Amino acid sequence: GHSFPRPIIRLDEALIIHRPSSALKELLENSLDAHSRHIRVTVKEGGLKLLQIQDDGCGIRKSDLPILCNRHTTSKLSKFSDLSRLSTYGFRGEALASISYVAHLSVITKARRCAWKMAYEGGRPIGSNAGNNDVVDPKPCAGNEGTIITVEDLFYNTPTRLSALRSPSDEYARILDVVTRYAVHNPHVSFTCKKAGLSTPDISTPSSISNSNLGTSGLIKLLYGPSIARDLVRVIASSSKKTRATVRSRQRRQVSGKDDVIGGASDKDENAMDIDENNDEESSDDGDIVDPETEWEAEAYITNANYHMKKMVFLLFINHRSVESSRLKRAVEAVYCGILPKGTFPFVYLSLDIDPAGVDVNVHPTKREVHFLKEDQITEAVTDKIQNALAGQSQSRTFEYQT
Ligand code: ADP
Ligand code: MG
Repeated sequence: GHSFPRPIIRLDEALIIHRPSSALKELLENSLDAHSRHIRVTVKEGGLKLLQIQDDGCGIRKSDLPILCNRHTTSKLSKFSDLSRLSTYGFRGEALASISYVAHLSVITKARRCAWKMAYEGGRPIGSNAGNNDVVDPKPCAGNEGTIITVEDLFYNTPTRLSALRSPSDEYARILDVVTRYAVHNPHVSFTCKKAGLSTPDISTPSSISNSNLGTSGLIKLLYGPSIARDLVRVIASSSKKTRATVRSRQRRQVSGKDDVIGGASDKDENAMDIDENNDEESSDDGDIVDPETEWEAEAYITNANYHMKKMVFLLFINHRSVESSRLKRAVEAVYCGILPKGTFPFVYLSLDIDPAGVDVNVHPTKREVHFLKEDQITEAVTDKIQNALAGQSQSRTFEYQT
């Protein structure tokens, strides 16, 4: 029979989206950037049929809807001088554009009084023509404060990509993994993730209003199980005491534009043992001389020698983005080498905040693997702290046994 030619799409336009979970990661980050407090994810067929994310964030202005899916459009740039730092946070203005090239994408959003709806294809609102996005207007509709992004029929026009994905259940497992990671990293945001049509979510974390003290270790307990939580140790490390407060407050301003805690644990997390050798607190004189060295700080929740599992769970966040660093992972794994039985591994959550100028901006967008300045130095400092914390743990255990 006669086959119709398929539409041509530029590969680079869709590159950052390899599978449903990579689309979801981008959508979650957008909802978090929009200061959402509740994020609900609904999935059909591992996200291949439907991936819907509803948030209660700031919403999108009606006038921005026509250009929402254009490439290189972003609202996360307040000043021109931010440009150099923009891509370090993953703000490339590419995610929605990319998704609209490989799926049916629609948005319902309410920033003020009315909710508006718009559907997109190939970077533009459906019905518009090249170079003119304003031909069609957003349609008024019912909706709550916040944004609902609906992604349907992912990879419908890229059959090769579609057939490379193993199974909906495998994709769903990856989706749950992404939601779980972001839920651990954002204790003040409530997440749910469920299959469409089912009433019971597979993941459900409480909102900060219903339980403000769950904290990072409480979430690890909820999402990874009480046995991990029992043997959890909190470790913190930083480049220099002087600059710690400065890095953190600067990042909060840049990422979220607000002052309250958006990620990581509060210092009031009482469920985990607190190991901090720099407990002589500095005077927090803000606007102090900034260390010319790359400034950074790290917070980790790690299991001690009492806990081990067959595969390492490594949750790494750099500047509030879930990323991979095989170097950092291997270094942390090595610390446990002499501590855990052969062939067993720890659970490690590590959140690293690095001065944005120190993160490699040239990392290819398809790769989650990151590089950063002073990678060796930071890796060594973090693993040293972990080593000390674990040693301190076994010492106190020995001590307990003796008394
Ligand atoms: P980037 O996040 O790099 O800016 P995206 O393509 O992911 O690029 O998103 C483009 C823009 O769409 C964002 O800058 C933001 O203004 C807006 N946006 C996307 N998702 C949401 C959301 N859930 N809530 C509010 N605004 C959003
Ligand atoms: Mg984004």
